[in-house]
Formats: sequence, structure tokens, C-alpha cells
Amino acid sequence: MKCDRCGSEIKEGESFSYQGRTVCEECYMELGLHFQGCDPWATYTATRIRDQKNLKGTEGLTDLQKKVYGLVKDKGRVTRDDVKLALLLSEAELDAQIAALMHSELVKERSEAGRFYLIPVA
Ligand SMILES: [Zn+2]
Repeated sequence: MKCDRCGSEIKEGESFSYQGRTVCEECYMELGLHFQGCDPWATYTATRIRDQKNLKGTEGLTDLQKKVYGLVKDKGRVTRDDVKLALLLSEAELDAQIAALMHSELVKERSEAGRFYLIPVA
């Protein structure tokens, strides 16, 4: 049996179920963690680097950021939970990707009827 998130081999009896997926203990722990806040300095640094390199669109994004952006673009409108489940991200990982995409002005958040949706910019 393989972990749906990191792909590592899971021994019999050591698998965990997360939202209908099978994950290893390490991933399960990470997905279950809900960090308070994010790392503003990391986001700031990433934005500065992009500014300096004069990057446009998805240039300079990490693979994970591209995946999140691709998902938002494909669906046109997704909730944070949709992204978390589709890509098996922890809360902290999701926050970091969204923050970077928002700073790059690729994705923005919109509230509709009390729910927040991520939508592609332009
Ligand atoms: Zn795993």
C-alpha cells in the first residue's frame, strides 16, 4: 500500500485515512496540523525575488504553486478546502501557496454568500 500524498510505502496496519485517501502516519500528522498564521517573511522574500527578476504570469512559481494555480484556473472558482483535498495539502502548505499566488496577482479571494472562493485573476 502506498501513501496517496508522499507516495511512500505504508506497512500493514500503519495506514491512516484522511478524507477518503490513504496516507502514511507522517502525512496524516502534517495534514491534521493547523498552524496559526503563516510566515510573512517567506512570502515577502518570494515576492521580492519575483519583482527583481521581473517575472510574469506563472514564471518563477514552484511546481506546487503552479498546481494550485492550475486547479483554480481550471475550475474557475474553488474553495480552500477543494484545493486542500485535491492536492492533499496541509493547512500551512495551502496558506503558503495561496499567499504566494495572491502576491503574484494570479489568484484572488472573493466572498460569495458568506463563503470564500479562490478565483483566477484576469
Ligand atoms: Zn505520506
